[in-house]
Amino acid sequence: MQFTCGYSVSGKVIAVKDGDTIEILQDNKPYRLRLDGVDCPEKNQAFGQKAKEFTSSLCFGYTVRAEISENDKYGRFISRVYLPSGRILNEELLKAGYAWHYKEYNKERRLADMEDQARYKKIGLWADKDPVPPWNFRKNINSSDKPVSAAGGNFVGSANSSKFHTLSCEWGKKISKNNQVFFKTKEEAIKQGYKPCKSCKP
Ligand SMILES: [Zn+2]
Repeated sequence: MQFTCGYSVSGKVIAVKDGDTIEILQDNKPYRLRLDGVDCPEKNQAFGQKAKEFTSSLCFGYTVRAEISENDKYGRFISRVYLPSGRILNEELLKAGYAWHYKEYNKERRLADMEDQARYKKIGLWADKDPVPPWNFRKNINSSDKPVSAAGGNFVGSANSSKFHTLSCEWGKKISKNNQVFFKTKEEAIKQGYKPCKSCKP
């Protein structure tokens, strides 16, 4: 199905896949929406879970309106999502520092400025001095010649627990790929509520 620019759908948010991808239901038909112009950290990157929680807190269970600009090869609808308050979800993510402006696909100066503001204030993911852009992170984990750690960081934790480990810790190695959360520094892990593992003492 191809939509012309400006087509809009509205419905209740029934799922939040990650910070920048949600699902709504309109007339019993699900639409997977990829937020236009933003790219959130992947769920196994620093702040990936936080970004997802932020998006959930703003829209899960609410009725939103999405202006669709196009659909992508994954069957997602590239959208600008209007919250019940009239605010735009895409912009709220940028303002709170939970997303990068996706400059490769979106040239809006307004969005670039929002990212710059958040960077300047060092909020959200910008608390990290040198955050890895999600598009680079995806490239690295998809190429087999590079270890995951090169993209991820020096310490690993699990999305399901509050401990973090060195990359060589036997407990750290048991964390499934889907749940791995990487940190560059100990401080970064601690800032996100993780505690050092008692066995590897990172
Ligand atoms: Zn450990």
